[in-house]
Amino acid sequence: MDQEPTPRQDRHLTIGILALQGAFEAHAKALTALGATAKLVRTPTELANLDGLILPGGESTTFLKFLERGGFLDALQSFVETTPTFGTCAGAILLAKNVQSPTQKSLAALDITVERNAYGRQIDSTILTAPTTLEGGPLEMVFIRAPRITQTGPNVETLATRDGFPVLVRQGHLLAATFHPELSSDPRVHQLFLDLTRRSHGQ
Ligand code: GLN
Repeated sequence: MDQEPTPRQDRHLTIGILALQGAFEAHAKALTALGATAKLVRTPTELANLDGLILPGGESTTFLKFLERGGFLDALQSFVETTPTFGTCAGAILLAKNVQSPTQKSLAALDITVERNAYGRQIDSTILTAPTTLEGGPLEMVFIRAPRITQTGPNVETLATRDGFPVLVRQGHLLAATFHPELSSDPRVHQLFLDLTRRSHGQ
């Protein structure tokens, strides 16, 4: 009872990964390698006590189908308003304010417009190295049936681009990538999310 609370800077970050569908295991590995605790999230109650959350890639329509059950979408909506969240690919689509091709429901938390499956069938999956403002030079990016960010709001910072379009963006406590950083061995994007999470919790 009289114990001093653990100083925040010494506390490990616990990051949830939405694990309803899609690519969640590789995110867990990337977070663990950076010293964070990864917790798979399958129900709204599992959103409690997380420092941050990753919405992984997969199929955004399938995510929506699962999330529309049992108030999960509403719980997630409140969560992402205040807690650091990183959406990759389908996760970025879920976070986006506007979704096109076709129009679909989203959490509408991040001021971007995305066009789903924007790179066409022939070249829908590709690995390339593209410029980024992150320290350490160009970044390997794995794109799988990726969306394209066609518009960003005034508070959205672009951290990397592909052919002039943003592929890694940040708005306050929210981060989104249209590629899959968990499938490359470069830890910089997950590190960026952990740094952003720490800062957002005042650590
Ligand atoms: N094409 C998927 C969608 O529209 C996203 C693909 C991915 O997450 N790799 O939801």
